[in-house]
Amino acid sequence: MGKLIIFSAPSGSGKSTIINYLLKQNLNLAFSISATSRPPRGTEKNGVEYFFLTPEEFRQKIANGEFLEYEEVYTDRFYGTLKSQVEKQLSEGQNVIFDVDVVGGCNIKKFYGERALSVFIQPPSVEELRKRLNGRGTDSPEVIESRIAKAEFELSYADKFDVVIVNDQLEKAQAEALETICNFLKK
Ligand code: ADP
Ligand code: 5GP
Repeated sequence: MGKLIIFSAPSGSGKSTIINYLLKQNLNLAFSISATSRPPRGTEKNGVEYFFLTPEEFRQKIANGEFLEYEEVYTDRFYGTLKSQVEKQLSEGQNVIFDVDVVGGCNIKKFYGERALSVFIQPPSVEELRKRLNGRGTDSPEVIESRIAKAEFELSYADKFDVVIVNDQLEKAQAEALETICNFLKK
């Protein structure tokens, strides 16, 4: 059976960049594809970045108890991890890597205990976070401000995680993440 590696952080911290780096290493990692009711962005495809559902479809799956965890970030905007998806990947012997928000991350860790490693990616500062979100160029100024507003709350969760990695210099953060995960998978 595989293990679970959970990444959480404020948006713009560099989570996806670090996860994509780890997926290219020889760690037998599979990305956990979440479900969401937000519309696809850019080149996103159903079943690759997310399973894209309507809010009604999402509610039906909640009623059926299909989620390991889920959140309604605001009215009709849901994100959640499907039990079936995770169990399938684990039973195939893959290690599953998650990109979820801080609350979801803590819930998955609580459920799987020692089988899971929870990692918090910390940005050097909120100012740097704003710079990175602007530089990424995928969000409108309003969305960026709402992500920044949420960041302070998310940063207060850092000490609930097994490991905190500060992503100041990307290469250093990637090396640290790789070493931490190799050690966890060896245990
Ligand atoms: P997240 O998945 O946490 O929202 P991303 O991985 O999309 O964050 O990173 C946000 C932006 O910051 C991207 O444009 C990425 O290339 C850039 N970035 C990531 N890490 C660093 C770093 N250490 N220094 C500068 N820019 C970075
Ligand atoms: P985005 O809309 O930028 O893809 O993601 C917004 C936020 O939703 C990110 O912080 C991401 O980590 C979080 N997220 C993605 N999937 C899940 C999930 O399955 N559960 C939870 N709780 N959060 C998720």
